[in-house]
Amino acid sequence: MIFFAVEKRMTRTFFLDIDGTIVPNMDWNELKKAREDPEFVQPLLDGVRHFFVSLPDSDIVIFTTARTEDYRELTERTLKHHEIQYKCMLMGLLPRILINDTPNMLYQKAIGINVLRNSGLGDTFIVAGQKLS
Ligand SMILES: [Mg+2]
Repeated sequence: MIFFAVEKRMTRTFFLDIDGTIVPNMDWNELKKAREDPEFVQPLLDGVRHFFVSLPDSDIVIFTTARTEDYRELTERTLKHHEIQYKCMLMGLLPRILINDTPNMLYQKAIGINVLRNSGLGDTFIVAGQKLS
């Protein structure tokens, strides 16, 4: 369990990777082949559905992926199939770094979590807690 100290009433913004994080990782050759199949939909990894169901409606999800715009339709089809709500998808991104200010170093307003590829989100979830300052 990852504990993220935010006030319960505070809206959280999740920047979520796609391949290897919410769906099984696909290499570029597999993606190209999948793009040719108009019915292709990827399964969700373990714990991913539970993660999304547990998010309050007020939370915001922004997908960040190395997939290029050539794969937007393919990717949106899988997300739509699984009824995953999100604000937007930023594509063509390599390693991601999130930087934010904080009033003190006990109050983490930005965190980063690395999950093992294709392991799903079964043991990784964020809970709201009390502000530590
Ligand atoms: Mg990935």
